[in-house]
Amino acid sequence: MTLALYDTMARAKRPFEPRDPGRVTMYVCGPTVYNYAHIGNFRPVVVFDLLYRVLRRLYGEDAVVYAANVTDVDDKINKKAADEGVPIREITDRYLSAYNADAAALGALPPNHQPRVTETMDAIVGMIARLVDNNAAYAAEGHVLFATEAFADYGRLSGKPLDDLIAGARVDVAPYKKDPRDFVLWKPSKPGEPEWESPWGPGRPGWHIECSAMIEQVLGLPIDIHGGGVDLIFPHHENELAQGVCAGHSREYARFWLHNGFLNMAQEKMSKSLGNVALAHDLLETWPGEALRWALLAGHYRQQLEWADPLIEQAKSALDRLYRVLDDVDRFLSGEPEAEGRPSRAARQAHEAVLAALQDDLNTPEAFAALFQLADQVRAAITARDVAAAEGGRDLLLDAGALMGFLGADPQSWFQGGADDGLKARVEALLEARQAARAAKNWPEADRIRSELTALNVEVMDGPAGATWRIRE
Ligand code: AMP
Ligand code: ZN
Repeated sequence: MTLALYDTMARAKRPFEPRDPGRVTMYVCGPTVYNYAHIGNFRPVVVFDLLYRVLRRLYGEDAVVYAANVTDVDDKINKKAADEGVPIREITDRYLSAYNADAAALGALPPNHQPRVTETMDAIVGMIARLVDNNAAYAAEGHVLFATEAFADYGRLSGKPLDDLIAGARVDVAPYKKDPRDFVLWKPSKPGEPEWESPWGPGRPGWHIECSAMIEQVLGLPIDIHGGGVDLIFPHHENELAQGVCAGHSREYARFWLHNGFLNMAQEKMSKSLGNVALAHDLLETWPGEALRWALLAGHYRQQLEWADPLIEQAKSALDRLYRVLDDVDRFLSGEPEAEGRPSRAARQAHEAVLAALQDDLNTPEAFAALFQLADQVRAAITARDVAAAEGGRDLLLDAGALMGFLGADPQSWFQGGADDGLKARVEALLEARQAARAAKNWPEADRIRSELTALNVEVMDGPAGATWRIRE
């Protein structure tokens, strides 16, 4: 089974082959950091994190280099800093750490590189200079523009016909553009805005060149996989490609272009400008990060996905089912002599089916179905009191879960996560009192405490290692 990925350029699913299996490279366009990010912004984070994990499994952990950038030069950032009367860097640092904390809570591994525009300025200026040298860019009125005419394939990635490109670009066309499709590589800053030195006067870069230069600096061009949301295909990725090729790289730029569909809310793309947003930061107050991650992966990544409470509730109960099995198998095994794990054949097949589904263009709905089949096998082993199969099956379930970024919590604490700190403290106190009553052979008191716990919706399980508890389903 080989990895197959849907490539936007080919408009088809193709077998994935990296240029160098010893160094597989992936770049994903990241956020502009001026506010808390909404859960839609985290769809690409979670989707490409999953791909990163699959690549690491297939090629080895050290063989995959993943970079996801941060845009820290932008009008919205400037405005936020001015509104608050603080330096720009304070805004970008604040929201970058919030973003990284949210991403970690959603189970995303940190990328190998997280380049920032402000730390890539020399590379950006250098790349623009190369484009000018190659007659693919020209300076005009303090700006530098990309000369679209220099790239015969312009429009190929987005599949937009030339007329559409011109018609689209004609809206509000600047007088210094030679061709309406030309786009800004460098522009003068407005008074009070941050600026950097360049051969064309002080100013700041255009959006598209930032990504091309960051890729060149941290990964080297061409790369194997370039990702982002569908909204970035045009103009952002189309322009990145044009610049990258004209700056002296092979036609390839990126071997595979991958794009995730939108996360919608109220049937429309979740976006700050429409106001239909749910912030990851807020959702994480109510839900475990794994449940939000599951919800984001509940549909295939190229389809649109509607964000609503039932989606998260279903995700949470799917995880409850899996954690219930893990909790039960732990308890079963703790009362049995140790044995070498030997998963059943059906468990091994279900485990393989998880990876196979992911290798088929990240088919997460199928991967989830296979995870449940695997959990059923573990359950069957407990029922049959087959220690070796239970142990082996549990290890496979944990491994398949980890491959997808799930089941990392201790099963006990997963269920206790439903309890707030006050309830937890109360339950612990009641359990202690019950233990004392039992030690004193005061059975009526022990029973009374047990019913009190039941009334709190707490289930107590007496095991060889003492009593444990969980919130009932
Ligand atoms: P932005 O901060 O809007 O540039 O977006 C950062 C990343 O999130 C880009 O890859 C976007 O394509 C992606 N994105 C933004 N909004 C959504 C959404 N509602 N659904 C899915 N992806 C999104
Ligand atoms: Zn980008």
